[in-house]
Amino acid sequence: MTGPDQSWRRRAACKGIPLWLFYGSEGERADQTRAREARAIAVCDRCPVADLCLLDDITRTQPSDIVGIRAGRTATARRSYRRRWLDREAAAA
Ligand code: SF4
Repeated sequence: MTGPDQSWRRRAACKGIPLWLFYGSEGERADQTRAREARAIAVCDRCPVADLCLLDDITRTQPSDIVGIRAGRTATARRSYRRRWLDREAAAA
């Protein structure tokens, strides 16, 4: 059995960039978080597969699994996006 096509990951702008930039590290101060997230979002802003990354995040995870920066958005923003997306999907069903 195979899962969803993940080949888009090969074109990700974050490929080869350390994960801590997107997920932070223990003991990070609030000002460090803001600076790090701004750098991560700048990477996402030039990513050619950001739409697929966002779709992957909101469709494959539980809300509690949504962490860090992905698709140029914070986890809070993606959880909110996910709720709206699920509402639209339910309304269309
Ligand atoms: S949108 Fe950001 S986190 Fe997602 S694949 Fe692109 S660079 Fe990586």
